Amino acid sequence: MSDLTCKLLIVGAGPGGYICGIRAGQLGIDAIVVDEQKPGGTCLNVGCIPSKALIHAAEEFHKLTRYNGQSPLGIRAEQPSIDLAQTVAWKDGIVSRLNAGVAGLLKKAGTRLVTGRATFLDGKTVKVTTGDSTVQIRAQAVVIATGSEPVELPFLPFGGKVISSTEALALTKVPETLCIVGAGYIGLEIGIAFAKLGAKVSIVEAEDRILPQYDSALTRPVLKTLHGLGIDVHLATKAKGESGDGLAVETADGAEKGLPADRILVTVGRRPRSESANIASLGLATDGACLRIDDTCRTSMNGVYAIGDVAGEPMLAHRAMAQGEMVAEIVAGHRRSWDKRCIPAVCFTDPEIVTCGLSPEDAKGAGLDVSTGQFPFSANGRAMTMEAEDGFVRVVARKSDGLIVGLQAVGSGVSELSAAFAVAIEMGARTDDLGAVIHAHPTQSEGLQEACLAALGHALHI
Ligand code: FAD
Ligand code: FAD
Repeated sequence: MSDLTCKLLIVGAGPGGYICGIRAGQLGIDAIVVDEQKPGGTCLNVGCIPSKALIHAAEEFHKLTRYNGQSPLGIRAEQPSIDLAQTVAWKDGIVSRLNAGVAGLLKKAGTRLVTGRATFLDGKTVKVTTGDSTVQIRAQAVVIATGSEPVELPFLPFGGKVISSTEALALTKVPETLCIVGAGYIGLEIGIAFAKLGAKVSIVEAEDRILPQYDSALTRPVLKTLHGLGIDVHLATKAKGESGDGLAVETADGAEKGLPADRILVTVGRRPRSESANIASLGLATDGACLRIDDTCRTSMNGVYAIGDVAGEPMLAHRAMAQGEMVAEIVAGHRRSWDKRCIPAVCFTDPEIVTCGLSPEDAKGAGLDVSTGQFPFSANGRAMTMEAEDGFVRVVARKSDGLIVGLQAVGSGVSELSAAFAVAIEMGARTDDLGAVIHAHPTQSEGLQEACLAALGHALHI
């Protein structure tokens, strides 16, 4: 067994770990990043990027199928078809380019990337095994960035026709019937994509609403799309297990029935990888299954940090990245702590949902006296020209001075508004600030200005 030493050892090269490695290298820290997979983690290999590639391909195909009939735009297309194996190969090409890009960025920063499975020996030492060879790495500080994995239901174990998002994003044939268990963002993003690709999709959700984390005003346009695509939505219904040719479910009144399914996609949440890699042997404090961290990402053991999904919700790539960057700076001796006002979150459904800061309900729960302003895309010229009139922008502002504490939107392409939303909240903008900013016309972003004007009581276009 050979030995390596470094100042900073990062276990996991997902968005949290690789950003930590790049920033550490930039700061002149001798750092090593370890991963058993190609660099980029869940996000790049089987998460954010592959799902957005599939969503894009499905949308392009769906447009053509719409133009196959009567299109108000006067566009006609003949019998479109899709070769999903080629779509997946195209997606894999993007993933490979990004894998190479991450490896190149680490190299440019002077950070070493070691490929292999890490096992903690103690809080400063990790054994990395690749095939037959083993290397022991000893570091002054360690970052646990091992991410998360799909939750498996005991009565629907992965295997055979029961798949997780990872397998769903690599299918080379569109299943005829697809049952999705869990109407969270992952299930809905993938379910909508497969419905657009021609699968007959059913969604089973134990709660009485889709996307239970969001308020119903935001999810209503998504529900409309599900119905429009012919997706069967079974709310207040629990998956029970496989039945002969599909999925056995139980409705709220206790009735049991079977839903036909060539594939059953289980998306009932993600579990932090806080026990793999022998992390459990370190005896770190936890909150449920997540490693407990403070506002500097320190765990309960001196010199051991945790970032990203392994350190709990919200399990989002950009949160992991921001934590990774911060920890590298702390290890370099900078005075840093988590002082973000908001983490934007985007649900890439059709239409998209973006949330940032507090919802009206959250604000009330926090004891704030707030007013809201809402502007519908049905009154926005750009949205009309894009056939995207469903949805709205909503601002939540403190009544006393108009300080913006939350922004939400639902609508086609609103993910790109997430930057403006986060900037407004981080910079402490007020509704009269944004109301006075000239927003280019015609753009959906005018909805942001108009929502602020609505909160002030003088929207111009409604
Ligand atoms: P991960 O990306 O999970 O990386 C952890 C890494 O650690 C992995 O590469 C793993 O191989 C490695 N590892 C673990 N244990 C060991 C070990 N013992 N030895 C060596 N290596 C090890 N987030 C968004 O912000 N936007 C989205 O649109 C979005 N879409 C998603 C879609 C899907 C289908 C999924 C599944 C997730 C999506 N996410 C999205 C969530 C996002 O992928 C995660 O929040 C993000 O990847 C977390 O980053 P991380 O660095 O904490 O961990
Ligand atoms: P979830 O969103 O957890 O949804 C799973 C669904 O499955 C639930 O609705 C559950 O009721 C249902 N279910 C479970 N068991 C069964 C069964 N037997 N039968 C039928 N249905 C069942 N985290 C936060 O804490 N707060 C946030 O506001 C937040 N917002 C996010 C926004 C975005 C855009 C993203 C990408 C992530 C967000 N997250 C948030 C993190 C998210 O919760 C986690 O990344 C992850 O758990 C989501 O995975 P999922 O879609 O598989 O599951």
